Amino acid sequence: MNLKISGGKIVTSKQIYKADIGITRGIISHIQTRLRQPAKETIDASGMLIFPGIIDAHVHLSLPAGGTITNEDFKSGTKAAACGGITTIIDFAAQEKGKTLADAIKSRRAEADGKVAVDYALHVVPTDWNNRTAKEMSKLTSRGFTSFKMYMIYAKAGLMSDDAAIFSALEQTAKYGGIVTVHAESSNVLDMLVERYHNKADMKKHGAYCHALSRPNFIEAEAVSRAVTWAEATGGRLYIVHMSTVEGVEIVRRAKARGVNVYAETCPHYLIFDDSIFKKPDGFLYATAPQVKKQSDRNALWQALAEGVISVVATDNCVFTRKQKNRWRGDFTRIPCGIPGLETMLPILHSYGVKQKRISLNKMVELLAENPAKLFGLYPKKGVLSPGSDADLVIFDPLKKVTLSYKWLQTDCDWSPYEGMKVEGYPVITICRGQVIAQNGRFVGHTGYGKFIHRNGPQDL
Ligand SMILES: [Zn+2]
Repeated sequence: MNLKISGGKIVTSKQIYKADIGITRGIISHIQTRLRQPAKETIDASGMLIFPGIIDAHVHLSLPAGGTITNEDFKSGTKAAACGGITTIIDFAAQEKGKTLADAIKSRRAEADGKVAVDYALHVVPTDWNNRTAKEMSKLTSRGFTSFKMYMIYAKAGLMSDDAAIFSALEQTAKYGGIVTVHAESSNVLDMLVERYHNKADMKKHGAYCHALSRPNFIEAEAVSRAVTWAEATGGRLYIVHMSTVEGVEIVRRAKARGVNVYAETCPHYLIFDDSIFKKPDGFLYATAPQVKKQSDRNALWQALAEGVISVVATDNCVFTRKQKNRWRGDFTRIPCGIPGLETMLPILHSYGVKQKRISLNKMVELLAENPAKLFGLYPKKGVLSPGSDADLVIFDPLKKVTLSYKWLQTDCDWSPYEGMKVEGYPVITICRGQVIAQNGRFVGHTGYGKFIHRNGPQDL
């Protein structure tokens, strides 16, 4: 046995119990009360909680967007992830027009391999739909690429999939397995509303709040509803990424009740902020797509997490510095969209979810580890603390009080959406395949340690 973790309380989606964990060659070899066998090293985890390593199923590193590229790459981003208790990330490989999905995977892996400090996988993003793409999708599903992301917006950036493409991709998942994830916003009406507010008078009057004015809730609701219609018609498996509205929640709730194979994800920022943030002097920093909505939406999202209508919390981490965000100069259409999240997701969810009794500790582990592992084919290798699983885990001090600040966070960013916020509970040690990779908010692992993970098909929750 290489490593023993003694005296901690293990948290799973169902239980909380005291046990020691033995790790042998990167795998969990023992879980038992008072493990007596000797180990080369022992970590005393008395008073600590132990979670499965967090899986962030929605991450953008080295992403070109808004005329610039994210400040965080696979190296710095996965270091920050490790400090936040994350041991696996899923980023994206977007197809270029005229090229294959395999080409996209190859070039994305060339960017990530040798740089990642935690394990990683890639969602494949079809952007050039035709018979060849459909065929390739089914082939990839059997080769360990079991999730496909499709954008219902971003026509100008060449990322958008039309309804026929999404319908066909869902048909593929019904036949061959896999899961289609969608960015659900209603493209045509959204573009029209953006143009409507894209004038000097409105931008002078409302500033960054134009971002919220141009994306009312129905922009998301209509697209969620349409995607659900295609999932229901095809019998395919659908996952709505970064859902932000009460309307989306209700559509997914009703679809699930009818037996539609649909799942949803939300992100920490939709649970913490509302759109009054855009009226603050540096509100433009908070621009994401979709944007944060109203207090009533936040409440509905928390409720949906507790009830299992939303199955996953992921970050949609996408880091732009103040200087990059400042490119907007008063024009809301020019703000690079996205905010940091990797390092803060776990403490935020613990403090504002568990501590405030909106979700249980077990539910938090389900949302951050078990469910993403099941839906994205990583379970039971990852997402669970069980003999035979990868020794990916977080030792978490539930009483540690921390004031969040970009000044000490490891994320490569000169601002934090959570600046000055107090959290209770913080990861103290992150272990990936038996190796300690972060300790007390500092990265102690190795660049390039992370492995690319071939995945299985999704499991129903
Ligand atoms: Zn995203």
